[in-house]
Amino acid sequence: MNYLSTRDKSLKFSFKDIFLRGLAPGGGLFLPSEIKKYTREELINLSKLNYCELASEIIFNFCSNEIKEDELSSLIEKSYKNFEENEVVKLKKVGNINLLELYHGPTLAFKDIAMQVIGNMYDHLQVAKNKTVNIVVATSGDTGSAAIAALSNRKNINLFVLHPHNKISNIQRKIMTTIGGTNIYNIALEGSFDDCQKIVKELFNEESFRTKINMSGVNSINWARVVCQIVYYFYSFFKLKKENISFSVPTGNFGDIFAGYIAKKMGLPINKLIVATNKNDILQRVINTGEYKPDKVKPTITPSMDIQVASNFERLLYYILDENDSKVGSLMSDLSSKSLFNLEKKEIDKIKKDFEAVKVSDEETVSIIDEIYKEHKFIIDPHTATGLGAAKSFKNLGDIVVLGTAHPYKFNDTIKKAIGKNLDSPKHLKLNMDKKETFDIIKNSNAEVKNYILEKIQ
Ligand SMILES: *Cc1c(COP(=O)(O)O)cnc(C)c1O
Repeated sequence: MNYLSTRDKSLKFSFKDIFLRGLAPGGGLFLPSEIKKYTREELINLSKLNYCELASEIIFNFCSNEIKEDELSSLIEKSYKNFEENEVVKLKKVGNINLLELYHGPTLAFKDIAMQVIGNMYDHLQVAKNKTVNIVVATSGDTGSAAIAALSNRKNINLFVLHPHNKISNIQRKIMTTIGGTNIYNIALEGSFDDCQKIVKELFNEESFRTKINMSGVNSINWARVVCQIVYYFYSFFKLKKENISFSVPTGNFGDIFAGYIAKKMGLPINKLIVATNKNDILQRVINTGEYKPDKVKPTITPSMDIQVASNFERLLYYILDENDSKVGSLMSDLSSKSLFNLEKKEIDKIKKDFEAVKVSDEETVSIIDEIYKEHKFIIDPHTATGLGAAKSFKNLGDIVVLGTAHPYKFNDTIKKAIGKNLDSPKHLKLNMDKKETFDIIKNSNAEVKNYILEKIQ
């Protein structure tokens, strides 16, 4: 199996290539040339595995040319050893809600689940053996800390994290700016997450800069992230032991929910994937109307979803457009020249077969947090609350699993406002509140970021 680009399917890359490169040449995203589809019998066998065994089985499909099966198993075991939950994730009943807690890793958000594996893959694939790798990543708040936890003090690796200055929660920033080793550089960019992501993509597309710094990326444009996230759709589906299960997913960059789409392609009989957005609702608009038109990013109480350019949507387009790479390319060039593109009715219908999309306002999100606390004495984070809010719109879908994407402590200011209660830090968060935060504030400029990186790696 090779990897192709959404904008050029004649390309052939190995897993190791795409792992290191993140973005395909020409700006497209990588996808596997084929996707394993499990039979009913195979699914039954998978359902008997524990989380790490299941992860090894599923991830192996995508990297079998480069990583041996037993090596992958031990890499995965090692990656999840420091999670609070033995089984990595936890499917919990809160009243009649099926909540999939994905936040038991070291930095309290689902991003740890892929990032811990990716950190170990950098070593295993020996991509930094002879030459230092410089990883540049954009974060809306949670990817950054997960990447820092996974890559801190790794040999021959530097990590540059761009977060939007003053647009993430205090705890998100504190974790990011205090837990890293000397190979970590935090950049507070004077702009939005979209600006951060745009600069990272531009740097990837500048061949001379990319090769000069031996650049790599761990945003969800890196296919390895998506692959690791497929696992918990299978795991929770098997745990729930029901037919006709849908998933409601708090969504920003369309990475997490796209993993669910791939799970479905692999034969997991998921009913609907529900995209929950905040008022940065580009995905809700494109799925319901066909118009993909990024707006200005509006700050909300769910900062990890304050995104208007949902990169991974391009991967869905590739399949919706029947793997027509030139059509994907032309929609993407419309997007850069006209700042929008439109899908045809038949394409929207095709998306609607697998997806629903709902926008949830800040007010609704706060009232959901309050309601769940009052009814069940259980506290959910604001992102998870949007997933719950979206799920509520569907009374006749059958069972819905809501993805719990972050621990509420990460957003304790909002929780305080919603339920009037201060949260204690979870035991496994190793945060030193008195430690000085280290980050540099940089102008929203491609050139300034490049200069900064070059200066640091001299
Ligand atoms: C990253 C993140 C999301 C959005 O996930 P995408 O893969 O970007 O769609 C939702 N909630 C939280 C807490 C996150 O950190």
